[in-house]
Formats: sequence, structure tokens, C-alpha cells
Amino acid sequence: MFSLEVGSLLKSRCKSCYHNEMQVIKIIPKEFTRRVAFVVWMQCPECGQNDNSLTQIR
Ligand SMILES: [Zn+2]
Repeated sequence: MFSLEVGSLLKSRCKSCYHNEMQVIKIIPKEFTRRVAFVVWMQCPECGQNDNSLTQIR
């Protein structure tokens, strides 16, 4: 089960200020032919920098 939720903190490094936690602000499911992935939008709580990453689950 995919347990990521909007508002939770992820261990991910901010590309702007190098803070080591990012807050999840949006999760967008993406379906491929064989697997489901999510685009996770994150925001740095320190500097407000937005980032996104494609997270894949089996
Ligand atoms: Zn930052």
C-alpha cells in the first residue's frame, strides 16, 4: 500500500537550500501499461522551493 500523504515530510534534499526534508504538497497518480507510478510534488519548508519526483510502486 502506498502510504505517502499530502502534508507528510520526505527525506529528500532541497536543490535550492539543501534542507534535508521536503513536504508533500500534491500527489498525482500516473498509470503506465504495467505499473502505477506517482508524481510527488514537494515543497521545501525552509525556502519554498518546489520539486517533483516520479515514485514508482510495483
Ligand atoms: Zn529549500
